[in-house]
Amino acid sequence: MRVSNRKRVLVTGGAGFLGSHLCERLLLDGCDVLCVDNFYSGTKDNVTHLIGNPHFELMRHDVTFPLYIEVDEIYNLACPASPIHYQWDPVQTTKTSVHGAINMLGLAKRTKAKILQASTSEVYGDPEVHPQQESYWGHVNPIGIRSCYDEGKRCAETLFFDYRRQHDLGIKVVRIFNTYGPRMHPNDGRVVSNFIVQALRGENITIYGDGSQTRSFCYVDDLIEGFVRMMATSHEITGPFNMGNPVEFTIKGLAETVLNLVGGPSKLVFKPLPQDDPKQRQPDISLVRAKLGWEPKIPLEEGLDQTVNYFRRFLGI
Ligand code: NAD
Ligand code: UDP
Ligand code: UDP
Repeated sequence: MRVSNRKRVLVTGGAGFLGSHLCERLLLDGCDVLCVDNFYSGTKDNVTHLIGNPHFELMRHDVTFPLYIEVDEIYNLACPASPIHYQWDPVQTTKTSVHGAINMLGLAKRTKAKILQASTSEVYGDPEVHPQQESYWGHVNPIGIRSCYDEGKRCAETLFFDYRRQHDLGIKVVRIFNTYGPRMHPNDGRVVSNFIVQALRGENITIYGDGSQTRSFCYVDDLIEGFVRMMATSHEITGPFNMGNPVEFTIKGLAETVLNLVGGPSKLVFKPLPQDDPKQRQPDISLVRAKLGWEPKIPLEEGLDQTVNYFRRFLGI
């Protein structure tokens, strides 16, 4: 028996960077939110401000183990996202993606819940086509140090589509491109957090290579809006859809923008380019634009400003 009309929504990886923003948004939308996390790369600090809200529940649980609860919707975000985190225990990373997907799909099957998978641009590997469309099958090394993440996410997509074909599940697959914002990890080596933290501490800003490589950065609020719209689509819509910002910036341009925003004595310094560092990464979002009417709205400077404010508070600077 149900005594409440509120939608019961499970967010796995809810104490992480993206998950914590999603939990906030779902509470604002009037949902009952269950945040499940094993705190591998996320932290309770990301959701402490939600504890006490009667519609929010936090549960320590590892998605590689079964979970029997009653839900209407599942957002499956559990998985470390930064190379430093996912390479620290690569076997666990693959287990999280693969066993985690099986358990969450089993849960969705039993409860007839809709289920959204946070997939990644990394399913395209080191792409040979630019920008990447969803129809591109990718160029992925199956035995390298990034494979635990890339192949784990690819296998999770396979499982989603097989549960769809075999059991007609309401699946939604989103391939996320570089996203940034408050609650990124300060030490995960990603370019946006590195540059902001370096600038705030007055340290040199480390550009790898000559800084002419390009990336496109999506602000977290834009991405979360995309997730919610995707979940609301009808049964026929499964994705996979790319979600990210198609506007490209050079890494040197990003460093200059961050320095302008933060001010201070930092200088730009150039370091060797890591091996296999892609020259360009840019999503083609025409499909999601057409199907969901979604595109990022928040300009880089505005999103960076919010992120700088967060790190200022976080670092006490
Ligand atoms: P994050 O590391 O901040 O969040 C992942 C969360 O999952 C963490 O809170 C972590 O503790 C939790 N987790 C890991 N293994 C788990 C397990 N076995 N059981 C339960 N919880 C577990 O990373 P994020 O940036 O918030 O990424 C969220 C999702 O989005 C990930 O699936 C990631 O692959 C995907 N993604 C993110 C980006 C991005 O730019 N941030 C890009 C592509 C894909
Ligand atoms: N599962 C779960 N919660 C549920 C239902 C299933 O965690 O509410 C797990 C279950 O442990 C199983 C997996 O999901 O290992 C896949 O379930 P499915 O029903 O698809 O497969 P089966 O149980 O037949 O292996
Ligand atoms: N990068 C950089 N300085 C840093 C961290 C990263 O110049 O301190 C570069 C990195 O070499 C890459 C780009 O910024 O070209 C984006 O790196 P990130 O690890 O954030 O994301 P990804 O390479 O996965 O897109």
